[in-house]
Amino acid sequence: MERGGGFPRGTGSLFFLPDAGFTLWKSLIKGRFISYNSTNLNDFSALVSFCAREREPGGFVAVSERVIKAMESSSWIRKMFETGSLLKEKFGNDNVFDFSLGNPNIEPPDEFEKKLKEYTQAAVPGMHAYMPNAGYPDVREKIARWVSRTEKTEIASGNIVMTCGAAGAMNAVLKTILNPGDKVIVIAPYFAEYDAYITNHGGEVTRVAAGEGFDLSVENIEKAIDSKTQAVIINSPNNPSGRVYSDERIDQLSSMLERKSRENGKAVYLLSDEPYKKIVYDGLTVPSVIARYRNSIIMTSYSKDLSIPGERIGWLAVNPGAEDYDNLMGGIIMCNRILGYVNAPAIMQKVVADLQGVSVDMDFYKRKRDRLCEILGNIGYGFAKPEGAFYLFPKAPGGDDLAAVAALQEERVLTVPGRGFGTPGYFRIAYCVSDRVIEGSAKGFEKAFRQLSAK
Ligand code: PLP
Repeated sequence: MERGGGFPRGTGSLFFLPDAGFTLWKSLIKGRFISYNSTNLNDFSALVSFCAREREPGGFVAVSERVIKAMESSSWIRKMFETGSLLKEKFGNDNVFDFSLGNPNIEPPDEFEKKLKEYTQAAVPGMHAYMPNAGYPDVREKIARWVSRTEKTEIASGNIVMTCGAAGAMNAVLKTILNPGDKVIVIAPYFAEYDAYITNHGGEVTRVAAGEGFDLSVENIEKAIDSKTQAVIINSPNNPSGRVYSDERIDQLSSMLERKSRENGKAVYLLSDEPYKKIVYDGLTVPSVIARYRNSIIMTSYSKDLSIPGERIGWLAVNPGAEDYDNLMGGIIMCNRILGYVNAPAIMQKVVADLQGVSVDMDFYKRKRDRLCEILGNIGYGFAKPEGAFYLFPKAPGGDDLAAVAALQEERVLTVPGRGFGTPGYFRIAYCVSDRVIEGSAKGFEKAFRQLSAK
């Protein structure tokens, strides 16, 4: 920013505005992007309103069209969460039943607090220094041993990258493998942030409908693959459906992807997003993807199973048999850095490395699932009983998810419309909430159901 100059100084579409008063420079702005650095708050407010008014074709906006679109389309969870905050202010915390956010409501296990104390109290020299981008070698080694044991496949420390949560892992991988216009398949219903992660790196989202009961439809995925398809993202246990894919389904998917990779003359990567892998019920286990498909990358975090989403710690493992492995791994390690993460948080790496196999009590969520299923089932809601994660994805009574969410909101029960997950006609209930919220919501669920079914 040039300060105190007489006129805007512009190169191409980027203008630098002098601190010369809103009225003077407003008429001179022709470009779409503005860098503003005035200390005059009146001018700044005027600029913000002016930008908002001019958000039409040919006008200009402060943020890119891609981000505007993402803000408009991907913010259902946030919108409902913010509505919840307003309602809580108005009616009081105890009178609002907020199921909008997948924020674990159980404190981390004692082992976590113990390890955290240990590492913060031990003054290890260099503990706060830069480290290899992929993470501490000893941490990667411990995780590789855990993965080799639980996934029943040989994984070395060199196949592991420590990341800023599962979200950081997905972004590092997509940045590495996508050329502009490459397609990535997602299975609806899906975690809506995948859209942003894919377009962040120039990719295009291909949405494929899930099969019966939100199972994988290998047939639907196969039909959607073409020569531009670079990857398929799966997520099991699934957010928002709670579905866990079977061994048989993952086997079928793997054989189909092997065949399609051969036909395309290049790998179709399978990205398995597994932050809920340890949150499964009724004795189910989640099949290993990395043991079944050569061109696979698995990614996870401790956000949900250790209840530490704010700590941003996770990892990814690349199948050592993946095509062009050296470049793939080198690219991911570099992208982890250049996305600005640099490396995963240092102390958290050390803490979680010693907590393989430790997790919050799954019975805590199972009891909530069972009680909610009982309440909703008795009322008459239609849903597939979740097998894992902490979400329920019922059919919207009357078929319109927006109407259902609005009717529930009238009863101060906050849920998220299925269209926020690429699947209108359903709505999501995140049941990682207190028992008070579950019990207190029963009347509202009932009233909304009667009202919506009578239409
Ligand atoms: N993937 C899915 C399916 C999720 O539901 C979430 C968070 O809710 C994430 C990824 C991001 O997890 P993390 O906090 O580990 O980045």
